[in-house]
Amino acid sequence: MPSEFELIARYFTRGTTHTTLGVGDDGALITPAPGQELVISTDMLVEGTHFLPDTDAEDLGWKTLAVNVSDMAAMGARPRWATLAIAVPPTPTFEWLDDFARGFFACADEFGIDLIGGDTTRGPRAFCVTILGEVAAGQALRRSGAGIGDDIWVSGQPGRAALGLAHLQGRMVLAEPRRAECVAALQRPQPRVALGLALQGLATAAIDVSDGLLADLGHILEASRVAASVQVAVPSAPTLERDAWLSGGDDYELVFTAPPARRNVIDALAGRLQLALTRVGTIAAGSAGAIALHDAEGHPLAIQRRGYDHFISPVDMSPDASPDA
Ligand code: ADP
Ligand code: MG
Repeated sequence: MPSEFELIARYFTRGTTHTTLGVGDDGALITPAPGQELVISTDMLVEGTHFLPDTDAEDLGWKTLAVNVSDMAAMGARPRWATLAIAVPPTPTFEWLDDFARGFFACADEFGIDLIGGDTTRGPRAFCVTILGEVAAGQALRRSGAGIGDDIWVSGQPGRAALGLAHLQGRMVLAEPRRAECVAALQRPQPRVALGLALQGLATAAIDVSDGLLADLGHILEASRVAASVQVAVPSAPTLERDAWLSGGDDYELVFTAPPARRNVIDALAGRLQLALTRVGTIAAGSAGAIALHDAEGHPLAIQRRGYDHFISPVDMSPDASPDA
């Protein structure tokens, strides 16, 4: 086992592009640009709870940072800096850390993020990132701004990550090219930073989908003290496919709300970003957090829960899985 300091020097010390003082001192120094607010968020991935023990190290490195970048996207912020705290067993091979770091820095490079510090300790595998982003003062997207009559939009194709996980766990068999697409959605999520930035001044509320479309929309509804009507945009028969769309987690798409007058602008944005943006419902008056679901013909769907059996218990990622945080 190399020393803690060898590990840090070898794997986690890189040049920075916009940092006053990075890895190597007791603290890092950063200077936000004038007129910008800092947005700060933390997310942790724990083996057995958030990822399968045999997850490819490079994919895991990517995902460790990507799930944090997604929170910046959901705030309409530009990710800028990150710290990385890791626990790894005493015998992670050099190769494993090398692969992890390659995936992590691929994501950092993709989104222009400087790694400016962290902590390195021995223990069961866990990875915790704190990310800092910048947003023009007063322009951050919050969960609390949805207004009655607003459209509800979702980016991409929610549910793919849950289907990829179901495939990897042998709960279903996906044929190519769907298999590759869904497994990639699970292992290499693409945070929607460009979308989040473009939604400043357009969206009234936003959130990223980490726990499932209905569950995360529910957070917008509660924060905004409104209800919603949602139309299922996939076949409404009770299949794994439908349940993944409604409540599969881990996609890191954005759910956002905007007044109907902005439909044309948002459709044009979808074209510019080459990213599907789909209207899936409407914000309504009613008890805060309530969601009325219906199919394409407007028939109500009798679904009681926002998380489904398919995606609650089977999402355990180890034989002795602990409950999700
Ligand atoms: P301290 O004892 O003062 O907390 P450490 O010995 O833990 O400092 O870390 C030394 C330097 O390396 C610090 O700048 C810290 O932020 C950085 N660092 C430690 N672990 C990591 C890591 N996994 N990734 C990036 N930087 C790290
Ligand atoms: Mg330390």
